[in-house]
Amino acid sequence: MTGPGSGALSAARRHHELDRLADDPTVDVLVIGGGVTGAGVALDAAARGLSVVLAERHDLAFGTSRWSSKLVHGGLRYLATGNVGIAHESAVERGLLMTVVAPHLIRSMPQLVPLLPSVGRGESALVRAGFLAGDALRAAARTPAALLPRSCRVDADRAAALVPAVRRDGLRGGLLAHDGQLVDDARLVVALARTAATFGARILTRVSAHAATAETAVLHDEITGGDFTVRARAVINAAGVWAGHVDPSIALRPSRGTHLVLDAAVLGHPTAALTVPIPGATNRFVFALPAQLGRVYLGLTDEDAPGDIPDVPHATDTEIDFLLDTVNTALATALTRDDVLATYSGLRPLLRTADGDGATADLSRKHAVVRAEGRPIGIVGGKLTTYRKMAQDALDAAVAATGLPAGPCNTHRIPLVGAANRTSLARLPAPVSLVRRYGTEAAQLTADPGRLDPVAPGLDVCRAEFDFAITHEGALDADDILDRRTRIGLVPADRAAAHEAALSVLAEHRLA
Ligand SMILES: Cc1cc2nc3c(=O)[nH]c(=O)nc-3n(C[C@H](O)[C@H](O)[C@H](O)COP(=O)(O)OP(=O)(O)OC[C@H]3O[C@@H](n4cnc5c(N)ncnc54)[C@H](O)[C@@H]3O)c2cc1C
Repeated sequence: MTGPGSGALSAARRHHELDRLADDPTVDVLVIGGGVTGAGVALDAAARGLSVVLAERHDLAFGTSRWSSKLVHGGLRYLATGNVGIAHESAVERGLLMTVVAPHLIRSMPQLVPLLPSVGRGESALVRAGFLAGDALRAAARTPAALLPRSCRVDADRAAALVPAVRRDGLRGGLLAHDGQLVDDARLVVALARTAATFGARILTRVSAHAATAETAVLHDEITGGDFTVRARAVINAAGVWAGHVDPSIALRPSRGTHLVLDAAVLGHPTAALTVPIPGATNRFVFALPAQLGRVYLGLTDEDAPGDIPDVPHATDTEIDFLLDTVNTALATALTRDDVLATYSGLRPLLRTADGDGATADLSRKHAVVRAEGRPIGIVGGKLTTYRKMAQDALDAAVAATGLPAGPCNTHRIPLVGAANRTSLARLPAPVSLVRRYGTEAAQLTADPGRLDPVAPGLDVCRAEFDFAITHEGALDADDILDRRTRIGLVPADRAAAHEAALSVLAEHRLA
């Protein structure tokens, strides 16, 4: 099934829906931007019974949403800055995502702060107090401790078992807490867009929006070059760090965050995130996060990034050195640049504050609905974890402003495509890595044993995943497959090894 009602996105569906829209270019809600925010808005609006078009100028998750740390976090860091409201909102959203909305894509991830001589008794007491506050946040959000276990202290042997590369000299144990971790951020965006499509939303990638007003926008098909004007009862600007290009009255102050990609082997295949306090800073850490495909993501920087907004931001040498130097304070054997397989960087769409010149690390991570006469409704700031609440606030504002005939938000009750409870997921007769990426849909991927061979030697991604990206996830070319549906492309050597397979699968589907 490829029409409304189906969550299968494909080139054929895109083509058909663009034709339909050109014939009748009126819609209740036009969403500009296919990151986590726009996909969340499209789902919220479609699930309220509205007709929806989402226009994304590149591909789903092309922007910041694929460059995150992939954490669905409980808001602990906001407590430290006194933002109790944001912290509670994060914890509530994390609980909803982990239990109802996307349990298949999110796991409970242990985080270890090793107690080394560089972490004094005072600092360790502070971290312990923070972790206890995190437990209280989780309990207040009614997320069961069975899902996110209480924080605790572990001995040196347990700490070293969780992160084998940790320095043993002077190790007095570790502090352990749990948070939510996505298998991948781009997969969340695709699952949101596909779920919106099951409610009839038209998800149009390679379609940019121009000259947007409160009720119209010119849509440009980046493939054919065709233009047409869409009329909507509400236009929503979810263009992330590019929101100011869509509506010049929106002022953002982007901040760059960089991660390094490492082979998990160089840290001894850790099963917990190594969490290292940044020397000289309070309540700031560098994380080495175990990730899919045998990788570790080491992050995170926070650098003011004024000026032009690149399509794909890049790390600086200073950021790379900072991350390596900081993690090395906790390792038995220091990592060097030779251990870095790749880097990735993203721009946080932070709202410019009134004084405008505080450090970006201290800028509010709050989201805001921006409304100005004659302009689209803007939804900016925020974070991946709270996309659902951001979407709800944007839609509520649109309904209030335009009188759209919409029911109340119900996305807190809607499981995304592939979702099921953890017991059912554990019983699925499919490889764990496929269940973690596709949930119940893993069964469709394993239907043809002839497609389960890896796309390149040593890569835990099979040909069936490339097929599924094309037939169900709206991938239109090799970049979509390699860089966003699978994250093979995060490491250039892996990308080169799998490129040929992507082209051949595209050819089999007549898309080459
Ligand atoms: C390094 C880093 C780490 C982070 N880690 C986390 C984390 O672990 N957990 C967490 O909760 N949050 C995290 N965040 C925050 C989170 O990633 C972002 O807040 C979120 O992804 C922003 O999503 P968005 O949809 O608003 O923007 P984007 O993902 O950038 O989406 C905007 C989209 O709009 C499209 N677009 C722009 N202009 C147009 C146009 N004219 N027409 C059509 N389309 C257009 C773009 O192509 C883009 O795809 C992190 C952020 C960064 C930078």
